[in-house]
Amino acid sequence: MNQSNSSSENSSPIRLDVVVVGGGFGGMCATYKFREMGLKIQSIEAGGDLGGVWYWNRYPGARVDLPSIDYSFSFSPEVEQEWTWSEQFAAQPELLRYIDFVANRLELRKHYQFNTRVTSASWDEERKLWVVKTDRGAVFEATYCIMATGPLSVPRDPDIPGLERFKGRIIRAGRWPHEPVSFTGLRVGVIGTGSTGIQIVQDVGPQAGELFVFQRTPSFTMPMRNENLTPEYVAEVKRNYAGIRNSARNSAVGGTRPQSTRAFFSVTPNQRQVLLEDAWKQGGLSMLGTFSDLLQNAEANEHVAEFVRGKIGEMVKDPRTAEALKPRGYPIFARRPCLDSSYYETYNLPHVHLIDCINDKIIEFTEKGIRTESGETELDLLILATGYDGLTGALKAFDVTGRDGRTINDKWSDGARSHLGIMLEGFPNLFMTTGPTGPAALANIIRISEHDVDWIATAMQYMDAHHLTAMEPTPEAEQEWMDLVYELSQRTLLSKAKTWYVGANVAGKPQGLTLFTGGFAKYAELCALATKDGYRSFQFSHRAEAGALGTEAKMAAVDAIAL
Ligand code: NAP
Repeated sequence: MNQSNSSSENSSPIRLDVVVVGGGFGGMCATYKFREMGLKIQSIEAGGDLGGVWYWNRYPGARVDLPSIDYSFSFSPEVEQEWTWSEQFAAQPELLRYIDFVANRLELRKHYQFNTRVTSASWDEERKLWVVKTDRGAVFEATYCIMATGPLSVPRDPDIPGLERFKGRIIRAGRWPHEPVSFTGLRVGVIGTGSTGIQIVQDVGPQAGELFVFQRTPSFTMPMRNENLTPEYVAEVKRNYAGIRNSARNSAVGGTRPQSTRAFFSVTPNQRQVLLEDAWKQGGLSMLGTFSDLLQNAEANEHVAEFVRGKIGEMVKDPRTAEALKPRGYPIFARRPCLDSSYYETYNLPHVHLIDCINDKIIEFTEKGIRTESGETELDLLILATGYDGLTGALKAFDVTGRDGRTINDKWSDGARSHLGIMLEGFPNLFMTTGPTGPAALANIIRISEHDVDWIATAMQYMDAHHLTAMEPTPEAEQEWMDLVYELSQRTLLSKAKTWYVGANVAGKPQGLTLFTGGFAKYAELCALATKDGYRSFQFSHRAEAGALGTEAKMAAVDAIAL
């Protein structure tokens, strides 16, 4: 692998324009964009290669739940034309091949240090730059620091005592080994039935000697109905990429999934049933697009939830298992809706067992397996699909210190805050891609990443043109954005489930929906507005020495004034 390691073991600071932290889609996009702008960059990635979640999540069955056509970069027409997707929903190996293709085509790896963790990033107010240190002893000093650390990069173990006692093999879904794992003849346990656990269960179930699924909260999962893409379809897509991207950017989800304007109760019960059946047959996330108000109207939502529960009852032969698999007590779509190919059918296999941990609580791990209230289940292999410290975990995991010695941990002690999901008051020249209070988990992460990187690039160009050295949101602007995010969140049912969206999966984490729920297109519109109004919601520092600006501008060269 071609890596730039020139400074990795060297502790004398390397002066740069930009440090990019992260080698997932956001980091790749940022690295490309800023390199093309002629900036001196260094990108850093903890993994051994590019790919972000797709580098780490090599578990069997890992597959994207958005159409591959949408889940791909739009900034390079060459890449769009030269790369051909084979399936409607690409599996993890194909996603990694795509990432490799893009990295080679755009020569991205030479800007990266891999197997390197950032240990701290501190703002030097006097010199107006970020000092970024790594665990390999490197020190970078950069005008801008881009945190492309992703919303799902810090896996978490379950809060169940005794994990260290278990003598069998433990594999974490988010840190899956690179070499093949055999399940043949093994007693395998899976904890977690979110998107990850569901993909693992349907894939590992048929292979394992016995599979025990420890389910606390059942998820709603709908048929993916994945298919191979025909050459004709691919050719048509390649002819129309510009239009496809355009409609994605103008949609709520940043993709081409149809969105209905029809409210649930605006049609007759018979028509509703027909529409839901159609969506079920069509597969993917069609169900969510069937009616316009499924995330607002609790009664409509419950009708759709009951429709899906009915389908579960039809697919799972054992009535007790079927009943335990039916989610209740929270709205459908308030947890991330999952897509599967054979999840429910997997429970019809005689060697696959569902352990309903609501009625049979997990007590502890033992040397041999897992003890629940009803007894011990012996296991050879335990798979943890227990989720992530989402949205804020990555930036809270190391020391990020902004102006006046304030850390991100301090700033987010009562919950995540930001302006536009991109910048933080008190942290000049620090930018996030897909950050908290942006749309992150609720829209196509690649569209958001590209959008955020473009927005950051425009801000950098503005600063350069106006001889500005530092930029951060005003406290008022950040508060206004937080108020808007909160107001919008109150209109949806998304807070009504205990999920990583609201921080409910991490003990002690401040609770609340810190996602922009107004849709991707609206988000992009508001970000553009913040640029077009002359960056009034930001405060800037001016360069002390004269630049290309005239005397008047020199006279106005004072630090931290709100423009
Ligand atoms: P998740 O949705 O947070 O699910 C974690 C699971 O672990 C939940 O079922 C949770 O149960 C369970 N769990 C945690 N602690 C437990 C305990 N002590 N005892 C029993 N069960 C416990 O995490 P995820 O499945 O990794 O998915 C995270 C996100 O990644 C998804 O929402 C999605 O955005 C993304 N993802 C996408 C894809 C895709 O594109 N196809 C695939 C995988 C993941 P409780 O709910 O009861 O806490």
